[in-house]
Amino acid sequence: MTNTAPSPPASRPCSRCGEEPRLPRQRWGRACLTAAQRARRAARRAAHPHPGEPPAKPSALTPPSPTAEAEALDRYRRARAELDLVTRETDWRRSRYTPAQVLRPLVDAVTQAEAACRGLAVPMDALKDR
Ligand SMILES: [Zn+2]
Repeated sequence: MTNTAPSPPASRPCSRCGEEPRLPRQRWGRACLTAAQRARRAARRAAHPHPGEPPAKPSALTPPSPTAEAEALDRYRRARAELDLVTRETDWRRSRYTPAQVLRPLVDAVTQAEAACRGLAVPMDALKDR
């Protein structure tokens, strides 16, 4: 007796798309399983947008100390005073340096000090001349 045509077990198609062959011990084929897993991961990400991210640190909300503001304001006033003094007192005709050479670093110091004050939210009224 001949055992004709030992046909492989009729593999039923994927129960989702009905076309691709099923994976072993699965009701779906590879493509459908992958698509379903991707959708599940996307849904999980949507529910928890930033898994593992620590909560916002309360220290980030702590305002800078008044001392830092006072120091920045003091630095600005001294830089400004030096710029004013040099501008007023220097006799450029007798100076070995051009106004730009002398004043540019002083202006830069004023600009930087002012930026520091703004960064610390020092009231701009405090920066005005009196
Ligand atoms: Zn399928």
